[in-house]
Amino acid sequence: MLSQLGEEAKLLAGGQSLIPLMKLRLAQPSDLVDLNFISGLDTVDKGSDEIAVGALARHSDVADSDVSGQVPILRDCASGIADIQVRNRGTVAGSLAEADPSGDWTPVLLTLDAQLHCLGSQGSRMIALEDFIEDAYSTVLQPAEVIRRVRIPIPPAGSGGAYLAFKRSAQVYATASAAVQLQLQLQDETCRQVRIALGCVGLTAARATQAEDFLSGKHPSAENLASAAEAAVEDAQPVSDVKGSAAYKKTLLRALVRRAAERAVRRARGEQLEGGHEYV
Ligand SMILES: Cc1cc2nc3c(=O)[nH]c(=O)nc-3n(C[C@H](O)[C@H](O)[C@H](O)COP(=O)(O)OP(=O)(O)OC[C@H]3O[C@@H](n4cnc5c(N)ncnc54)[C@H](O)[C@@H]3O)c2cc1C
Repeated sequence: MLSQLGEEAKLLAGGQSLIPLMKLRLAQPSDLVDLNFISGLDTVDKGSDEIAVGALARHSDVADSDVSGQVPILRDCASGIADIQVRNRGTVAGSLAEADPSGDWTPVLLTLDAQLHCLGSQGSRMIALEDFIEDAYSTVLQPAEVIRRVRIPIPPAGSGGAYLAFKRSAQVYATASAAVQLQLQLQDETCRQVRIALGCVGLTAARATQAEDFLSGKHPSAENLASAAEAAVEDAQPVSDVKGSAAYKKTLLRALVRRAAERAVRRARGEQLEGGHEYV
């Protein structure tokens, strides 16, 4: 249908970004193709080595699913997005397609090396999330291409992750956010497979590769985690806006990365921790 209707037609999933934009007349699609009439797309499935989140899986489906217990960074993210009404309608795939630079899912799924299984009239293809978002509100999706599912590799044993977003209130996007995922080596308790991603730091969420390199192979001491947070802030280029100055956001990010890393380490050691979003 998308191919037939042409480039001005839009896919509708949860409608939690598209409908507000239409109300503001910032989006005026010629037609809406409603995905909600197709059954079987709302699944969150765990296979032997990956989790597959269907195109119509809502934030609340992820928050409530067992897989979130096993990969707790997913619950950190899903359970704190906006309010329960938004979480019950909005979808993970829709969030990625929207590519809002302050969206919660992109930094989290960047740390998990997520891949997007996309379907279009030319067939299907897998796109690494890292290559998917081109710019603010812009992705490599073709006009008639649909994200069918988001594929998330299950982190290896001994892994832990945490997401922290700082928000002025439940209904607004984060001012700054940080996601950390790592594995603790059993023998010497050094950090492996370190992934650190930042949200609200410019046109797209971004990996903090300097910080990842710094922490890789090191013991997660308080000093090392603080230094990694410092390196992440050096990588970050937040912009001043109504939510705060660039300097204020850097201060926030420094604390968020350090604390998310501490939580990731505690989870890697087997501790059960709840949380994810912090409010002013
Ligand atoms: C009050 C409020 C507060 C919010 N706060 C936050 C927040 O703090 N953090 C956060 O991350 N998000 C927040 N959101 C956004 C919410 O997470 C949305 O659910 C999400 O951005 C879009 O998902 P959706 O399913 O609603 O997509 P829709 O609004 O239906 O679609 C969004 C865009 O994605 C396209 N699209 C949707 N699904 C697909 C697909 N499968 N394949 C290809 N293209 C697709 C649509 O064509 C459209 O262009 C908030 C929304 C509201 C209304």
